[in-house]
Amino acid sequence: MPDTILRLALPSPLRRLFDYRAPAGVPRSALQPGMRLRVPFGRREMIGVLIEVVEHSEVPLDKLKPALELLDRRTPLPAALFKLCLWTAQYYQHSLGDTLSWALPVLLRQGEPAEARQERFWHATPGADLNDPRLARAPRQREALRTLAQHPHGVAHSLLSKLLLNKDSLDLLLEKGLVQVEVRRSAPLVRHGGWLAQPELPLNAEQRAAFTAIQSGMDGFGAFLLYGVTGSGKTEVYLQLIHQCLQAGKQALVLIPEINLGPQTLERFARRFNARIALLHSGVNDRERLDAWLAARDGEADIVIGTRSALFTPLKNAGLIIIDEEHDASYKQQEGLRYHARDLALVRARQDNLPIVLGSATPSLESLHNAHAGRYALLKLNQRAGGAQPPRFLRLDVKSLPLDSGISGPLQQAIGQTLAAGQQVLVFLNRRGFAPTLLCHDCGWISQCQRCDARMTLHQRSGELRCHHCGHAERPPRQCPDCGKVDLRPVGAGTERAEERLNILFPDIPVLRIDRDTTARKGSMDKLFSTISRGEPCILVGTQMLAKGHHFPRVTLVAILDADGGLYSADFRASERMAQLIVQVAGRAGRAEEPGKVIIQSHLADHPLLVQLTEQGYPAFAEQALSERRGAGLPPFAHLALLRAEAHKPGQAEGFLDEACSYAEQLQQELRLPAIELLGPVPAPMERRAGRHRAQLLLQSGSRVPLHKLLAAWLPILEAMPAGRAVRWSLDIDPIDL
Ligand code: ADP
Ligand code: ZN
Ligand code: ZN
Repeated sequence: MPDTILRLALPSPLRRLFDYRAPAGVPRSALQPGMRLRVPFGRREMIGVLIEVVEHSEVPLDKLKPALELLDRRTPLPAALFKLCLWTAQYYQHSLGDTLSWALPVLLRQGEPAEARQERFWHATPGADLNDPRLARAPRQREALRTLAQHPHGVAHSLLSKLLLNKDSLDLLLEKGLVQVEVRRSAPLVRHGGWLAQPELPLNAEQRAAFTAIQSGMDGFGAFLLYGVTGSGKTEVYLQLIHQCLQAGKQALVLIPEINLGPQTLERFARRFNARIALLHSGVNDRERLDAWLAARDGEADIVIGTRSALFTPLKNAGLIIIDEEHDASYKQQEGLRYHARDLALVRARQDNLPIVLGSATPSLESLHNAHAGRYALLKLNQRAGGAQPPRFLRLDVKSLPLDSGISGPLQQAIGQTLAAGQQVLVFLNRRGFAPTLLCHDCGWISQCQRCDARMTLHQRSGELRCHHCGHAERPPRQCPDCGKVDLRPVGAGTERAEERLNILFPDIPVLRIDRDTTARKGSMDKLFSTISRGEPCILVGTQMLAKGHHFPRVTLVAILDADGGLYSADFRASERMAQLIVQVAGRAGRAEEPGKVIIQSHLADHPLLVQLTEQGYPAFAEQALSERRGAGLPPFAHLALLRAEAHKPGQAEGFLDEACSYAEQLQQELRLPAIELLGPVPAPMERRAGRHRAQLLLQSGSRVPLHKLLAAWLPILEAMPAGRAVRWSLDIDPIDL
């Protein structure tokens, strides 16, 4: 009889599969690829996914350990999802086991059953009488029975407290036989009168053209770039497409950036449809995540909305994928499996033969390039919906102006005028805390982080110096640690300082700060938004959390305190990011009747990029930026892979990368791979971070195929390099931070 050997993917960084024997008593016929098994691994146990059943192993049979337990009776992973994970692991040169563990809900990785939970439902026993003599002196039980009798489908146990049903009363009723308990899956949604809970807006001509183009391609793969200025009604187009999808009996998957997770975005979807919506984002707990995942897989959710990792949600009957704000950097995972959810969504759409819509007011240069090349259909919305005017830009040169906590005199005046006219102001500053540095005025000491090449930010409210790179925090010194003098001064301004100053300048006006420090608590964001939506004059101060997705109809002035960073950064993507941020923040102004104004403070107010962006808009900026990238041979006209390494000792990371680099050169010759440039190794932009010394090696190529051939041959060598043991290294395919 042939041997039965199980080849498993385990959650390990090693790019290989692991062989085991079948668990005792489990016949071969019970084993299907995709099923999970508990196995011994070293001194631990792990849960692996069965990839295939084979008859031979390189390991002698008596050395193979048996798996301990088969966890599934049918495979929990639909074939389509499995295929996507395989593609992902291969493209990102990542271990399949680790890829699966990033893609699957935590509880599945821990061995939880992959079936929807059963719930207990309480029913009134048919024929139970409210006038039963046993209830004569039990008014609470009678009330409970009355409530239950009003719910012919029963009441889910989890909803008892919502209906003011008391468990003790129910237990007493159960003893009397007046109520019954049934265990089943949650009740399917009872729908009334179709999918729409709210009428659709009549689309304007541009929206209609976009909608029609996408709708006529709904039967199969097609990629659409919906390029619509802020407020042009992209979301309305998504909603009407989703409606089409639901009517065709299919499910829609909507990805949104982390920053858009505000109540406003989710509510818009929930208000529109009588549909079962599954939410998958950082705010849901592990159990809710698994439930949503299972509901989507089993066709019990109609719409799935989530952030990056929701891309890996299985859908029983997928009909449409939407990527909102497709340019957003949060779609790229920056640790472990460094995937880009937008790029993978395109792969998924192609594999599953689905239409995919990428929407943005400021598309990434990659997507614009794909549209120019004819790979995506380009659909433009140039007008704001509902008649709102586009905002006007004013570049304010602050070169010789005194700045008071980052705010110039002319800007103060403009803020005062807007408030006096009864309107709201948004002040944007992409820096949390009070001040980015503390400086000794006597000797020049600055608050350097001990573990990073970075300064520590002063957070006055919490009384701390905090490093935003490694998380280290300490009390600010009273005296200079170097010279002992006490003249320590905060230098520069963060949101806390701007807030404090604005409070002093406009004492009668509420100043609301919105950044990660103020919104960390659950519900705090809702509270801020309800103040804003009351519409009275107020000032919002915040970081990029303010920039996207929100709708503030009463904001007519947007002030950008500091636009200089993106103009002289070393990262070639910095200007693209700055332009996107400026346009997105500006898009918060004048979304209703009053036209909006945007004031940009800069020391480089005449910088050609800034001039072009503010006078000709994002499309002109993007075309210019694309032609510069083409000239410089940078993405999207080239493909990159970045090998990063870090180590405790200086020089160790470079040593590893040097060796890796010479292997790559050798391979390139052996495999005769043309046109791959190896750049570096060089120190990382922040050479020391969290106590480790960091370096990187960049691989750049005009075409993808040779690059990926090289990587595939190179990685097993890197894994085997002794020098690799003392360093932590990782490969980033299509990196977005260099
Ligand atoms: P975007 O997603 O492009 O930023 P939204 O979909 O949020 O734009 O639309 C901006 C505003 O215009 C919203 O208040 C929305 O209700 C309104 N709107 C969108 N489409 C229409 C339309 N066809 N007619 C009237 N108002 C519309
Ligand atoms: Zn000093
Ligand atoms: Zn630090």
